[in-house]
This record gives sequence, structure tokens and C-alpha cells, in this order.
Amino acid sequence: MAQLQRLALAPKQVHNLQIHLTAEQQHYLCRVLRLRQGDRFIAIDCQGQWWLARLHLAAGAPAGAEIIEPVPAQTELPVGVTLIAALPKGNGFDEVVRQATEQGVIAIAPVLSERTLLDPGTQKIERWRRIAREAAEQSERQRVPAILAPVPFSQALREQAATDVSTLYICVARPESPHLLDCLSEQQSLSQVPPGNDSNPKPNIVIATGPEGGWTPAEVERAIAAGFQPVSLGRRILRAVTAPVVALSLVAAALELKIKN
Ligand code: SAH
Repeated sequence: MAQLQRLALAPKQVHNLQIHLTAEQQHYLCRVLRLRQGDRFIAIDCQGQWWLARLHLAAGAPAGAEIIEPVPAQTELPVGVTLIAALPKGNGFDEVVRQATEQGVIAIAPVLSERTLLDPGTQKIERWRRIAREAAEQSERQRVPAILAPVPFSQALREQAATDVSTLYICVARPESPHLLDCLSEQQSLSQVPPGNDSNPKPNIVIATGPEGGWTPAEVERAIAAGFQPVSLGRRILRAVTAPVVALSLVAAALELKIKN
């Protein structure tokens, strides 16, 4: 299956096992990949489902495709991991989106913190969504992470506090905080997650990383009050675009090791 090309679809593109391809997707499959009538590819519906699909080309009609069969999930993490990241300067968030997607997050929440200057327009958000789709395709994920609209960090905290049972971590460049890896090893519930069992409640994980100038002490206090645990990623100070990928690779490793053991 790995050699087949992958294409991410919006859920509304699939109806009665028929796939309605956008003009851009038709161009990609027919002109860029040069697929022919009857060629197969993997369709990803962005919500965790993969299908084996077959391309339909008929003279005079737009290219379409049909679903042949579902492909079992293989590459998703056993619990939902969300990254909350303060927006870095310039285009730094592009890399954060790409790498966080490669590490298996289900959602990325960009936030405006007290030391963030940038307030991105909708064009940027569309760009991040495209990057997430491409990264999910290339890392053979079943699911494309949701890129949430940027909100002030205080609002993200309120929304988080109002929702589910996630374990919440905030990365702070302070050596006295416990290391994230120690916290993950102590999180007993991770080892109790049966892989692929959807009937059990999942101990979702949320991890927050700050901007170039760091979180302000007041932001860290508010996060702690909202249930976040401050954690360290080691003794060195990481850049705002490096910290998310370091944190997420520790989370992914801890989750995947627990499954094996
Ligand atoms: N001058 C800032 C550094 C910010 S680094 C300060 O001293 O706080 C950008 C973000 O990356 C931080 O807000 C934090 O979330 C994360 N980060 C960087 N290095 C880290 C470390 N060693 N441990 C935990 N988080 C770290």
C-alpha cells in the first residue's frame, strides 16, 4: 500500500462510495501524477479513515473516483495529542505545523500570547491547513490535524478548562520544572490504553509551547490555575519552533513505547 499515492479529501467529497474530485485534485492526479483510468490511489478523509480508491476517466466528463475498500488504520497515535503553540515570528509556524503533523497531533491551536506580535490573517490559516494536509499525506497518516483559528492564550485556556479529561502540560524554560519525559512515564493511564480500542475513554494530551520571548509569569500562573502542569524539555533553551517538535517527539515516543511493552 505504501507505494500508492495518497490524496486528502474533505468529508463532503465522498458520497455513496463515489469521490467527487476538485479541479485541483483532478489536475494533481491526472497531470502531475499521470494516473490513468482504473489506477488506484489512497484516499484519506482527514478524520482517521483511509480508503483504497480507483480513478475514473471518461472522455468529456470530469475525472472522478470510487472507493474500493477501507484500509485499516496503522499510523495514528493511540491517544489524541493537541499542540497549543504561541505564534512565532515570520513564517516560523509553517515548520511547526509540518513537524507537529509528522509527529501525529490531531489538532494544532495557534495562540496569541502577551509576547506575540503577529496576528495572522485568514490566508495564513489556509496555508497552514494546506501544509498539514501535505504533511499528513507524506507521513502516511490516516488523519489530517485540525488547524484551529488563532485565539488569545487566555481564551484557549478557558476553552481547555471547559472541555474534557486531557492531561495538560505547559513547556517552560525553567530548570526547576519536572522533565516532560518523567511526567509522561508517571502518567499511568497511558499504559492502560489498549491500541485501537475506541470504546474506552482516551487520556488525551495537550501540550503548550511559548513564543520567542517565552510565556510571561502571569501566563504560566493562569495556565497552572487552568490545570496545566509546567514541564521542562531539558537544560538548554530551545527556539520557539524547536520546542514543539521536541515535546511532541517525547510524547509520541512515550505513547508508542507503552503500546509495545
Ligand atoms: N527567553 C525565553 C525562551 C523562550 S523559548 C524564556 O526564557 O522563557 C520559546 C518556548 O519554547 C518557551 O516559551 C517554552 O515553551 C519552550 N522551551 C524552550 N526551551 C525549553 C526548555 N528547555 N524546557 C521547556 N520549554 C522550553
